[in-house]
Amino acid sequence: MNIPFVDLKAQYATLKDEVADAIRGVLESTQFIGGEAVASFERDFAAYCQVPYARGVASGTDAIHLALRALGVGHGDEVITTAHTFIATAAAIVATGAQPVFVDIDPDTHTIDPRMIERALTSRTKAIVAVHLFGQPADMGPIKDIARRRGLFVIEDAAQAHGAEYQGIRTGALGDVACFSFYPGKNLGAYGDGGAITTNSAVIAERIERLRDHGRTTHYNHAEVGFNSRLDALQAAVLQVKLRRLDGWNDHRRRAAEWYTAELRHSGIKTPFVRTGSTHVYHLYVIVTNERDAMRKRLDEVGVASGIHYPLPLHLQPAFAYLGYKQGDLPCCEAMAARSLSLPMFPELTRDQVRRVAATVLAVAERESHQEMRKPVAMHADGGKV
Ligand SMILES: *Cc1c(COP(=O)(O)O)cnc(C)c1O
Repeated sequence: MNIPFVDLKAQYATLKDEVADAIRGVLESTQFIGGEAVASFERDFAAYCQVPYARGVASGTDAIHLALRALGVGHGDEVITTAHTFIATAAAIVATGAQPVFVDIDPDTHTIDPRMIERALTSRTKAIVAVHLFGQPADMGPIKDIARRRGLFVIEDAAQAHGAEYQGIRTGALGDVACFSFYPGKNLGAYGDGGAITTNSAVIAERIERLRDHGRTTHYNHAEVGFNSRLDALQAAVLQVKLRRLDGWNDHRRRAAEWYTAELRHSGIKTPFVRTGSTHVYHLYVIVTNERDAMRKRLDEVGVASGIHYPLPLHLQPAFAYLGYKQGDLPCCEAMAARSLSLPMFPELTRDQVRRVAATVLAVAERESHQEMRKPVAMHADGGKV
């Protein structure tokens, strides 16, 4: 009866035998690091992203860190990104020695606003990390125009957007280099940690191979100080099985999103906005409403899990206090932190589950709007909704 936020059990049930065979194959090969399982998944994932190169790494966070290093980003550089994302995006920038520069988001798509990037440019700007938030590509056209004019690198944080498209091009092929996470709850999730970098550049791919493996050129010859950040063979084998189903799962996520959006229309609740020419793969289905906290409480009471992505924007995180931002600096990020609510989203979500979630949310919206109308001061025509 309860509705989880993500249902990994339902997915596993459809994959059990195939996954067991894939894992047994790796166990019998005893090739646990590197080897054919990793090489073969890298080939398939590159083909999926329509690029020549994909390289597995240990996590999505490492993917961003190593990608920035491969581009030569480091101490003294500034990297522009959004404050409305998971902390890993900015933590990876800090790990290179560079300084993150946070800018505001587009109020409709919640992805980084190219006009704000323009205003944040300085002589030290070296790169832009564009996050394809919740499954929708960032506005890569204008972002790449700025980068071309100013000689900057563009890195895609595609951790939430495996398979999404921008003007017919898949994420992973939209910037100089792209970074994916295979954290279990992501659209393509491993059974443990994992990540990948995709690129059109042979030079970047080679640099990543070296950085992820102790800076090695031969077994005991190290051209630079690198890291231990490899995708292990068991995860690669699981991912290869799951990759074949990714497009189908993304279709089911879109179907569930359409159901939600149909149920919630005319309610004053803001449902996800998809940019013309883009496809959304709904890693998360996020609504915007002034009644966020009341809705979350009611959902919890009736056994429906929900989430907030993200309750405190990065520019206001204690970890980034040293950067000197303050409340009010990025109003759209702050508004989303206060009003956004993520509803259950996974490919196996049923029509009935969506109906139940939507009915709960709508009941709270109605109750709150009636209470508003009884208050003499609150006679706004829009009922106070976003
Ligand atoms: C999940 C995520 C990451 C980090 O990926 P890990 O594999 O957990 O290290 C980075 N950026 C975004 C936007 C994410 O959602």
